Amino acid sequence: MKALVIDDALTSAMLICHLLRKMGIEALSANEGPAGIELFKEQRPDLVLLDVNMPGMDGYETAKRMRQLERDGEWTPIIFLTSHTSDEDLEHGIAVGGDDYLVKPVSEIVLSAKVRAMQRIAQMRYSLVVLTRRLDEANRELVRLSSVDGLTGISNRRQFDEIYTREWARATRSCATLSVLMCDVDYFKQYNDLYGHQAGDECLREVAGVLQSCVRRPADLVARYGGEEFSVVLPDTDVDGAFRVAETMREGVAGLDIPHGSGKDGKVSISIGVACVVPQKGANSKESLLLAADTALYAAKQKGRNCVEIAPEGNA
Ligand code: GH3
Ligand code: MG
Ligand code: MG
Repeated sequence: MKALVIDDALTSAMLICHLLRKMGIEALSANEGPAGIELFKEQRPDLVLLDVNMPGMDGYETAKRMRQLERDGEWTPIIFLTSHTSDEDLEHGIAVGGDDYLVKPVSEIVLSAKVRAMQRIAQMRYSLVVLTRRLDEANRELVRLSSVDGLTGISNRRQFDEIYTREWARATRSCATLSVLMCDVDYFKQYNDLYGHQAGDECLREVAGVLQSCVRRPADLVARYGGEEFSVVLPDTDVDGAFRVAETMREGVAGLDIPHGSGKDGKVSISIGVACVVPQKGANSKESLLLAADTALYAAKQKGRNCVEIAPEGNA
């Protein structure tokens, strides 16, 4: 612990420093307000003992300025030193940011008791700061977890809904094209039946990784929509661009070469529905675009799977 003593009377300052050192506290001293403030800035003491009556800048003004130097959440205990205290002195001292009073000449017992009391409060305050920091970290982690899918590590449905709603509104304002892909793993029920649920989970993780690696723009979003279905939002992307991304995804999953006894061509594949629209109030909605992508996905399944189908124009 480090204490700063500011007192214009040299003997008084020396005595207090001596007593503090006896308590195992590092003591610094200054004989006037401005020099004390400089030391306060440089040394960041844990406690300040501050004489009220000093020529030039008095203790009250010095305390006020030191309080202004503290950053948010910082607090250094300040004990005023004075030879006489009236109720008004005490009130004023607290008002300018002091925490306690010590009457001069300082008694060793009283000084020691007050310093210990301040130490205890400072310790509690420190614990509170640490706890608050941990709480902030935990909160940030919670926010992150609430948007991530536990199995695959990509965005979850909740995050998709939020981003999709935001991108829909943005595209409406700027008359931009918005594309949505709905992807679904083919014959996945059989995959689980053949290889077990754990292998199924691992397969979903690999598929998610491929889908995620196929989008490049910061605004693109790949999410696990639910079960073995994945959804993708592609802002500012027309139907040609969206089809290209979808094909890359389809090829990427096929390229994983995950054996699937009941799958198309003996391996895991996905089917994708693509829908694209320039949002316009009254003419379409974010629900109708999703439905169009879903209908296109159904068509891809009907066509034999492991393929990409585009929703007919005007379907969204
Ligand atoms: P289709 O080609 O028509 O899409 O056939 P499918 O078997 O993939 O379709 P269906 O919707 O009938 O089956 C989806 C299956 O996906 C059901 C379930 O066994 C499996 N599934 C859904 N979520 C999970 C998961 O989190 N882990 C695993 N291992 N399997 C899942
Ligand atoms: Mg499905
Ligand atoms: Mg499926």
